[in-house]
Amino acid sequence: MKVLVIGGGAREHALCRSLSQDPSVTELHCAPGNAGIAQVATVHPVDQLDGARVADLAAELGADLVVVGPEAPLVAGVADAVRAAGIPVFGPSGAAAQLEGSKAFAKDVMAGAGVPTARSYVCTTPEEAAEALDAFGAPYVVKDDGLAAGKGVVVTSDRAAALAHAASCERVVIEEYLDGPEVSLFAITDGTTVLPLQPAQDFKRALDGDEGPNTGGMGAYSPLPWAPAGLVREVLDTVLQPTVDELRRRGTEFSGLLYAGLALTSRGTRVIEFNARFGDPETQVVLARLRTPLAGVLLASATGTLDQLEPLRWDEGAAVTVVVASEGYPAAPRTGDPIEGLAEAEADGTAYVLHAGTKADQDGRVLSAGGRVLSVTATGADLAEARDRAYAAVERISLKGGQHRTDIALKAATA
Ligand code: AMP
Repeated sequence: MKVLVIGGGAREHALCRSLSQDPSVTELHCAPGNAGIAQVATVHPVDQLDGARVADLAAELGADLVVVGPEAPLVAGVADAVRAAGIPVFGPSGAAAQLEGSKAFAKDVMAGAGVPTARSYVCTTPEEAAEALDAFGAPYVVKDDGLAAGKGVVVTSDRAAALAHAASCERVVIEEYLDGPEVSLFAITDGTTVLPLQPAQDFKRALDGDEGPNTGGMGAYSPLPWAPAGLVREVLDTVLQPTVDELRRRGTEFSGLLYAGLALTSRGTRVIEFNARFGDPETQVVLARLRTPLAGVLLASATGTLDQLEPLRWDEGAAVTVVVASEGYPAAPRTGDPIEGLAEAEADGTAYVLHAGTKADQDGRVLSAGGRVLSVTATGADLAEARDRAYAAVERISLKGGQHRTDIALKAATA
């Protein structure tokens, strides 16, 4: 199988790493990729938002499967362009990706499907926003309606700050605050059959102890020893399957990866958000534990044959990933600094480095090229071992001004 992956972050590096280890994959390509992906795939400098170019590249390569990683190309309709060229693609249509592209659309689908989520109002004026904030009270949750790379959500008890965020967005969703721990549960679907993966938890805030601003994600781990038994079955029955069925019923069939961000509240499980693609950084830990070769699973989604797939096989151990971000992330990330110690970090074979924002210079040195730079990943018999290995590898890497959280998976590992 010849596979083309679209994207260039640590999620795509994780996808490419798993695909490169799948014996059925004979050729692996990625556009645009990054310095790490270039070590396992042939990279192509193609604009990931240009559906016509991506479809042409897939045809030129004779790709049997195209895997679209990030949300922006999905919302831009890149999967539609590839599908129109007659090539199987893992990822939803632009219309179905509105599940992530518009929080208001997602709320409407959830209402139609009877999926439990926070009560909410869609607001377009300061007066509407003020009224909605007062209806729910503090802490306030204000979400930009459109795509914002995980940074469009403000949760605050400061009413003025909540109003200011609402005023800075064209359209916002204001909703009730959900307490309780968060879980990310991914499912692979072909539009009818839904196959849940293993749950993971990510860390969205920039600083230790969940302080600081929201980011794209600073680390993740899987499994969740503290999660209630039966959680995956419950979410499949009350969230994932009803949502997939509702989208099919509306004529916007959803195939690809359905990501449910959940809050386990005192009043039951609630959906915080849906994403239309693999989450970053949770993908790094979920794929680290998946034993079933990946390409066949993604192809079954793309070709509508998931019901024929054998049950997925999983590593019984644990995985932890720690994100190394550049100085100034998320507000104003500094780029262009050399990264040292990458080989040393992997030397003892217990951890590996997935690249996010990196590029190679003329001399083959790896430079930082984005806010999140690396996703250092390790597996182990349990979370404590995986965590120790990931952090030992992080310590061997140097990046000027680089920052990482020191408490990824700490509570879960020591509970
Ligand atoms: P989202 O982009 O919708 O996932 O929101 C980003 C983060 O904001 C979530 O992971 C939560 O930590 C937080 N958040 C979003 N919605 C709520 C809510 N209704 N109640 C509490 N926290 C929330």
